[in-house]
Parts: sequence; structure tokens; C-alpha cells
Amino acid sequence: MSTFKELGLNDEILKALTDLGYETPSEIQLKAIPQVISSNQDLKAFAQTGTGKTAAFSLPVLQELDANNKSTQAIILSPTRELAVQIGKNIQDFSKYMKGVNVLTVYGGANIQDQIRGLNKGAQIVVGTPGRTVDLIKRRSLKLDNVRWLILDEADEMLNMGFKDELDQVLEVTPDNKQTLLFSATFPREVESIARNYMDNPIEITAGKKNTGADNVTNEYYVVTERNRYPALKRICDANPDVYGIVFCRTKRETAQVAENLIQDGYNADALHGDLSQAQRDGVMQKFRNNSLQILVATDVAARGLDVSNLTHVINYKLPDQIEAYTHRSGRTGRAGKKGISIALITNKEMGRLRPIERKINKKFTKKEVPSGEEICKNQLFSLINIVKETEVNHDQIDTYLESIYSSLEGLNREELIQKFVSVEFNKFLKYYTNSRDLNEAERSRSDDRGKSRDDENMTRFFINLGRKDNLNPGKLIGLINEQEITNNVEIGQIEILDTFSFFELDKNFTDETISSFQGAEFNGRSVNVEVTEKKKRSGGGRRNDRRGGSEERRGRGRRYEGGGRSDRREGGRSDRNDSRRRDRGSSDRRSSDRPDRSDRSDRRSSDRPDRSSGFGRRRD
Ligand code: AMP
Repeated sequence: MSTFKELGLNDEILKALTDLGYETPSEIQLKAIPQVISSNQDLKAFAQTGTGKTAAFSLPVLQELDANNKSTQAIILSPTRELAVQIGKNIQDFSKYMKGVNVLTVYGGANIQDQIRGLNKGAQIVVGTPGRTVDLIKRRSLKLDNVRWLILDEADEMLNMGFKDELDQVLEVTPDNKQTLLFSATFPREVESIARNYMDNPIEITAGKKNTGADNVTNEYYVVTERNRYPALKRICDANPDVYGIVFCRTKRETAQVAENLIQDGYNADALHGDLSQAQRDGVMQKFRNNSLQILVATDVAARGLDVSNLTHVINYKLPDQIEAYTHRSGRTGRAGKKGISIALITNKEMGRLRPIERKINKKFTKKEVPSGEEICKNQLFSLINIVKETEVNHDQIDTYLESIYSSLEGLNREELIQKFVSVEFNKFLKYYTNSRDLNEAERSRSDDRGKSRDDENMTRFFINLGRKDNLNPGKLIGLINEQEITNNVEIGQIEILDTFSFFELDKNFTDETISSFQGAEFNGRSVNVEVTEKKKRSGGGRRNDRRGGSEERRGRGRRYEGGGRSDRREGGRSDRNDSRRRDRGSSDRRSSDRPDRSDRSDRRSSDRPDRSSGFGRRRD
């Protein structure tokens, strides 16, 4: 079997596929389409993004759908609105020659009444994000009693994003005799447990290797200090003048900050994160897709809906919390037979995080040195020469000026001319990188990290202006921290309650968020002041069981954000309340100690940075 026709699809679908330029089925399509058409058996598919899985589940559903029956026959759940919209659009394209087929996409952040009206008109296929889907079920607008197919797309990502409850709720209300199709790039315990609990003897199919990184992707790491993370990112971009890639950050704030810095420093970059409006996000994605943007700085969640197949690099500005997310990130490069590079910028403290990823992707990371100024200049020079070689001369436009150009350059020989033209651009980089410092950090052995307490390494210690006299105890302090909804399950470390003030430790990755979340907070009518303070020296861990309340038993996790129907907005787990407060205050209130790399202004002072406006260092389209 090698054609779509042979897979059992009708002429209307085949015609639409021809219009879309789909000539031969991909591996996952070859395996899934005939299986779903011919059998009701549940199906578990290991499929990376970009393998053609949307068509793999949509086409057999369209083939088998009863277009005369207006009730919802297929429900497709997807982790983000971007992906849901993309799937909805794909299905519309696939079914454009089929009569009476209605597809509706439902997601948070859009007018629910419009979606309810759409459902009332009758949609045989509903594509939705988990939060909004549950909301519509609860309002009795979305009825799933006649559902024949339940499709979970990117199941691992949905669970990573904390949609377990929503998935459970949808799975509970769908009929037992439906066919469940579960697609996931990775199969961590949580996904296996969904499969075990809700699927009946599923058949397993695989496109590509299970849980492995894409074969065309080389994984590299650079060891830097925290303050050199950003300068190293710039050097990597400068050393790769044709970079077309995504820089992944962990939080929305970090994403916005890195993008802002890159833009200020003259790079062709922009940010994609959940604080942007849908229209802004669409605009950024469009610019990136059509190559007018070279570097996209994004959170994992926001980048989910982006379908770009020719990325040269994926850069992990910070490694993701979940190992699975690394697979998703790196799988965005090395597609369509092209080679790709996935880079991790790590500090010595983060070295221990490489090994579990290596185990998961079944590949080794290669250690790389942050490029020196000299190396960058060389790469830029040869890139410039290539640009010159490839540039076509537009005689219509330039011929009228040539006479006077020739006469003003008279007296320069060929070599001198070449040297001067090249130097116009090259001097800027040369000047910028002359005497540049070495950004590489000596690598500590990976095993040094083993046994080191997470708390020592990854916690920030905060001062809070409340103590026993304010009726504060460790339980109340944990409650107060949770109330700020800093992020999902933020780890709380040691707590020390004193008479008039106290200390607590929190995951240092959320230092910024912690400070800003506490702004305006109150405790028993008193305004709360939280500041970063110096870490306490620990002697053999003995201080943990502090009699005054700061004991390990008091360690805890932040409350999970339970925003009901607004779950689609979650990203890093912060509530919208905090987000809007933060937006109102703008960025000026950020403490310099929390800002990455502010101290290193020397590497990006505008006066001495290379001017990229002439196209040098920009992507050529
Ligand atoms: P997906 O994994 O479904 O997101 O698909 C990845 C990309 O491949 C999308 O741009 C699809 O339109 C495209 N695609 C999927 N299947 C095929 C096919 N059989 N032939 C050509 N392009 C395809």
C-alpha cells in the first residue's frame, strides 16, 4: 500500500489531498488510516510532531463520519489553542469537497457564546482545548453522548500542562463504545496511566523511534555562568549568521526579557508567549513562518502551535523542567530530512540535568565551546562573502549610477576594492569582538552534582516582614505563598519564623515571579514586603530542623492553579490576576538582582555593538 487511495479514502478526500500537495502517505498515516477505517479498536500512537499525525487521525474519521447526522461524532483534544486551530483548519481543508461536514474549534480566550452558537448549529467534529471543552460540557452545550471517536493529540503535552483533571472529565462523559485514539511523542508514566485506565486493549503503532530524539538532530551543550548565559546566546547567534531558530525559555517573563534584549541588541528577534494577545501571537508566528523573523524566543506552551519545518537551531536558553519537553523542543529542528542542532546553555549547577535527557533521547550531548570573538568574525566574514557571491545585480536600477561610481573609485585596484567593501561590514564585528572575553566556564564533572541537595542549589532565600508577633507560623506562611499563585507546584524550601520577620526559600527559577507576586499582598491587614536575602550557610544540613518552625516537614508545594474554564490561559501556572498586576506595573519594578545578566552591559552597549541594520547578521530571504 502506498497511495492514499489504497488506504481506503473516498474521492472527495483524495481531491482535497491533491489540492494540498499530499502525494504519498507518511509512515504514521500508512499505519493509522487503514487501522481506524477497518477497526473499532483503540489506538495508541507514538508520533513526534511534524510526522503528519493530524491527517493520520482526521482522514479516517472523515471517511467514516455520517455527514447526515448533525450530532458531535468526533472530539479532538489538543493542548493549546494554536494547535487546536491548526487541526480545525486542516480538517476543514481535508473535508472541503465533502457535503454537510461541520468542524468547530473551541478554545479559551475567545467568546464562548459564539462557540455555543456554533455547537447549536451542529458540528460533527469538535476540536478543543481541554479547559474550554470541559466548560462547554458543563454548560450542556457540548454533548458527547454520540461520540464515536475521542482523539487525544499530544497527550504528553496536555498532561505536562496540568490538564489531567480535564482529560478525566472528558473521558468520563464519552460513551464506552467509542474508539479512543491517543497520539503522543513520549510516553511518561502519566500518559501510560491514561492509556491503561481509559483505553481498551489498544493497538500500538509507532512512527519513528519511541521516546527518542530525532535522528537528524545533534545535541550540544555549552557551560556558562548564569551571568554569561545571555552573552553566550548572542555569540552563538553571531557565530551562525544564518541561524533560523527558536530560543526556548521557561517563563513568560524570561521570554519577554530575552527577546527584548535581543531586539535592543539589533537581532532580528521577537517573543512568543502567553501574555500576548491572540492577534499578536498570530502576527509573530506569521513573521517567523515566512522567514522575516530569524530568532523566535518562546515558551514551550506558546510554541506548540507553530509548524515550521526548516529550523536550523533550537536553543534551550534554560532547560525545561520536564525531560519530555526537551524532546518536543529539539524535535522542532532536523525535520523534513534536514539536519538540525539543539543547543542547551547550562551552568555547572545544571550539569546533572543532561544525563536524564541523554537517557531519554538515547543520544549523547556534545560539549561545545562558546565561540570566541575571532571565530565569530571569521564566520561572519565568510557569510558576507557568500552573500556577495549570491547577490544578483539589478542592472535596471543600478546601471544609471555605475559611471559615477566607477569614476569615484578610480585608482583602487581589484584587491583594494574587495578589501574595502568587505571591511565596511566586517570592521563592525572586528571592533566589537576585539579583546572579547572567554565566556566558557570550566566544566565540573557531571558526577559532582549527584547527591547535592536540590535545595542548596536551586533555592532563593527571601526575607518577609512578618513574624510570630503577626501571628505567622509556617503553615500560614505556606498558605500566604500559595495565595500569591506564583506558579504551579512551586517548591518551598526552608522556613524560619522569627519574632518580627521571617525567611523562606523558594525555587530560584521563580525569584522574579515571587517578588512581583507579593507586591500589594496583605496579611491580616498588614502590607507584606518580600525581598531577596542572602543564603544561609548550612552546616551539614543540621539547621533544617529549626525548632522555630523552619523544618523539612514544612517543605511543601504550591497549590495548583485551579482556574476552571480559564485553564487554556495557563502557562507556567500563573494566574491571570498576577499577570495583569505585573503588566500594569510594567517592567520597571524588576529588581536588578533578579534580572539575568544586567551587570554584563559591556557585551551589549549599543555604542559598541555591531550595527545589524545593513543586513549583516540578518537572515537572507
Ligand atoms: P502534522 O504532524 O500533522 O502537524 O503535519 C506536519 C506537516 O506535514 C503539516 O504541514 C502537514 O500539512 C504536512 N503533511 C502531513 N502529511 C503529509 C503528506 N502525506 N504529504 C505532504 N505533507 C504532509
